[in-house]
Amino acid sequence: MARILAIHAHPDDAEFLAGGTLALLADRGHEITIATMTPGDCGSAELGPEEIAAVRRREAANAAALIGANYLCVEMRDLAIFNDDPSRRRVTEVLRRTRPELVLTAPPVDYLCDHEAASVLVRDACFGAPAPNYRTGAETPAPVLVRIPHLYFMDPLAGRDREGKLVEPDFIVNVAGTFARKREMLAQHASQRRWLEQHHGTDDYLDQMERWTRERGQLAGVPYGEGFRAYRGHPYPQSPRLEELLGDAAVLFRRQIP
Ligand SMILES: [Zn+2]
Repeated sequence: MARILAIHAHPDDAEFLAGGTLALLADRGHEITIATMTPGDCGSAELGPEEIAAVRRREAANAAALIGANYLCVEMRDLAIFNDDPSRRRVTEVLRRTRPELVLTAPPVDYLCDHEAASVLVRDACFGAPAPNYRTGAETPAPVLVRIPHLYFMDPLAGRDREGKLVEPDFIVNVAGTFARKREMLAQHASQRRWLEQHHGTDDYLDQMERWTRERGQLAGVPYGEGFRAYRGHPYPQSPRLEELLGDAAVLFRRQIP
């Protein structure tokens, strides 16, 4: 069984972009942790940062529990995720504690600064986690990883970069069988739904996710899909571990899996 870490910027990002895939992996008996860099402390017009953070940590833990996953928060703050020395060490400690073989994270280019900073922090923490001389400064530091984990990027929001160009995934995961659970996971984030209704003026949180997941599925001719790209930088593992774990559910898109 594999240990898998899905780590993104805010509560609900991993569910929105990879919830169906995480449910599939959980069904196959893999051990999953969903982590967020922040507890979503800016996501309210009524509650103060610590109050809304407490609500959203609870919602995120409930969403993870639906697939038997653990939840943890790195305790950075909204719009304050930076690719700096202390943050990289903190994320490295999270990797050493959760000891994943496979990491799913935010894409390098996305609409929001927090997502992009989360992506680069996770990428570089994966590199540092097996280096014994790279100290995290934690009170009781976890042992270093044996090797760099396999790293995959989730889709950017709406599948587009900052110029509005489509970002093509390497492959699509067919999440038709777990879509209902994905929706249920996202529904746990009730405070986010209220916030988006006020802030963006739309109350179609769940429907938006459904449209998005259907759209991604269409790329590969399946009813519901989620896209992923493997990070191929040297010396990260190059074998298609996520595709192997998913078997038939990983539907080839255009690019060939090596
Ligand atoms: Zn986010």
